[in-house]
Amino acid sequence: VIDSHCHLADEAFAGDLDEVVARAMAAGLRSALCVLSMGEPGELARARRVAALWPDAGFAIGAHPHQAHDVAMGVAQLQAAVRTAAAGVERLLAIGEIGLDYHYDLSPRDVQREVFAAQVALARDMGRPVVVHTREAEADTREILEAHGPNPLDGVLHCFTGSAEMAAWAVGAGLHVSFAGIVTFPGAQALRDVARTVPVERLLVETDCPYLAPVPFRGKRNEPAHVTRVIEVLAVARGMRADVLAAEVEQNFDRLFGRDRRPVPGSQRPEEGQARRS
Ligand SMILES: [Zn+2]
Ligand SMILES: [Zn+2]
Repeated sequence: VIDSHCHLADEAFAGDLDEVVARAMAAGLRSALCVLSMGEPGELARARRVAALWPDAGFAIGAHPHQAHDVAMGVAQLQAAVRTAAAGVERLLAIGEIGLDYHYDLSPRDVQREVFAAQVALARDMGRPVVVHTREAEADTREILEAHGPNPLDGVLHCFTGSAEMAAWAVGAGLHVSFAGIVTFPGAQALRDVARTVPVERLLVETDCPYLAPVPFRGKRNEPAHVTRVIEVLAVARGMRADVLAAEVEQNFDRLFGRDRRPVPGSQRPEEGQARRS
């Protein structure tokens, strides 16, 4: 089992991180992708604790759409800043989370688009997958990924809550689709129906913790161990055994982010990218 998207370096875990990681391991989690925000020294310091406590966890870093206004500095400068932030992260697997959030609109939309596009292009140049956050912004998300990403696209739409049409586009374009605790909510039948349409080899699961705890932990702090609930619910929705689905999802994670990662056509291997001077 793998939690493909969590915020373990969030302040919410500062007090009992070792117990949270121990519970994740006891629940059978082999690895997790721990997502970090750029420009937050406290979070980076806590990330080093996560890395020490959980040697198989990997990391992603990027400028979230909510913080786009803080990093609006021109494309080249922003790309340089993300590159520098990424170079400071141990076991970097991806650039993210990046994207568009037109639900909260915490940054002006044109700024969100600019910051997203710059990071999609950077990830392509670095040969890294992207972790995409998209909310009520399907058309613009597609357009930017198609215009600035590699072909086929390389990454995941995280915490997917979109339409069946958007999921089908993502799969056709080469992306993975990841479901979080929302899929366990009683009112989420439409989302479970969408989840059934995603081919199993493109499916990922996540907690997005500390947010979005699944049933029956709703309203409490979420943690990576609870990803097993997401798997159980998806397995029922798809008419599969939970352990079979968990094994499939683990393979998908390894193919996208980890040890079985395919080289991205037209881009450099990550190791070469790191060594390059520019
Ligand atoms: Zn997100
Ligand atoms: Zn997140």
